[in-house]
Amino acid sequence: LLAPDGAVASTVFAEMSALATRTGALNLGQGFPDVDGPSWVRRAAADAIAPDAEHGANQYPPGPGIPELRGAVTAHQRRHYGLDLDADTEVLVTTGATEAIAAALLALAGPGDDVVTLEPCYDSYAAGIALAGARHVTVPLVPGPDGFRLDTDALRAAVTPRTRVILLNTPHNPTGTVLTRTELEAVAAAARAADAVVVTDEVYEHLTFDGAAHVPLATLPGMAERTLTVSSSGKTFSLTGWKIGWVTGPEPLVTAVRTVKQFLTYVSGAPFQPAIARALADDAYPRELAASLASRRDLLCDGLEAAGFGVVRPQGTYFVLADAGPLGFDDGTDLCRRLPGLAGVVGVPVAAFCTAGSPTARALRSWVRFTFVKREDVLRDAVARLAALA
Ligand code: PMP
Ligand code: GLN
Repeated sequence: LLAPDGAVASTVFAEMSALATRTGALNLGQGFPDVDGPSWVRRAAADAIAPDAEHGANQYPPGPGIPELRGAVTAHQRRHYGLDLDADTEVLVTTGATEAIAAALLALAGPGDDVVTLEPCYDSYAAGIALAGARHVTVPLVPGPDGFRLDTDALRAAVTPRTRVILLNTPHNPTGTVLTRTELEAVAAAARAADAVVVTDEVYEHLTFDGAAHVPLATLPGMAERTLTVSSSGKTFSLTGWKIGWVTGPEPLVTAVRTVKQFLTYVSGAPFQPAIARALADDAYPRELAASLASRRDLLCDGLEAAGFGVVRPQGTYFVLADAGPLGFDDGTDLCRRLPGLAGVVGVPVAAFCTAGSPTARALRSWVRFTFVKREDVLRDAVARLAALA
């Protein structure tokens, strides 16, 4: 986590957002919406603070999360997936999915253990595995006519008795892949054979397109007992700054995560919890968001293709991966540094989601991630600017 000169490395998202601010370029790098989530949910948080009353939700909430939110998470998992959870012992509210993932890794893995992830993968995974002192082993997602698909042979080779945790992510950042039931069955079989725990990051669970169905790993036979499922209100309700997430699963595993969480943040955002509890009871917003994201995905993908990029159309998330190789750029990192000057747009190099020097990093060297969780007029402007690259 330290750069060779001893400085702390900053995340690629901070670096690319700073680049956008400095250059005035359109920021299709960091994944956050430019339209805030429902005003009634925001009003509920404001009301919870109760500025005109003597008391509001302004002091430490209960460590595991307020009962209303744990109950709402339980009801959500039952309504959408048929999963039955005990709100008192099998749900933990966290400071975003990021804390849930870091606390799970710190609780479950250590020196001598392997943690297996997909590659590319969200950047906090490698950092969390390093903080835990475990070894990071990766399994590639490989681009093809059906999108980026799991290499199941590589999965079987990567998961061994040394594997403590398989850290999965579906719908997947950065590829936009929604893992199929068949792919998930391969993960489940590997986890069972190695007696490993699966931590599954499902923060984009509601953001899928074209009828692609999100299948939670915990719904596969025999998997609930060895799976920690992580999600977050940030993506589902376009409230990424609130940092209210949660982790669900069997009591011993949730207790292990809670033990670590106590000493990371102790508790999470009191006034946001009642607001998210109410939001979770309402499925309309995420449904409308997914529909509008599907059309914004098309707008950006069509524009990238017209500009000459190779595009793999995503089935979910906020993101599309585009290959700049056909435009003559073989290094996505270099291109992303120059893109504000060349086209007035910021993207994130896919290399940031890969292990340095890995075969996947080499295979995806010329690829860039763009987000389409921006207003249509911003995307139209971006597409017009990117056309200049052709
Ligand atoms: N996992 C994935 C796959 C993500 O894309 C993100 C991004 N924001 C997170 C976790 C972090 O979520 P949170 O903001 O709730 O910590
Ligand atoms: N999840 C978002 C992304 O992948 C933002 C992450 C962050 O800023 N840490 O762009």
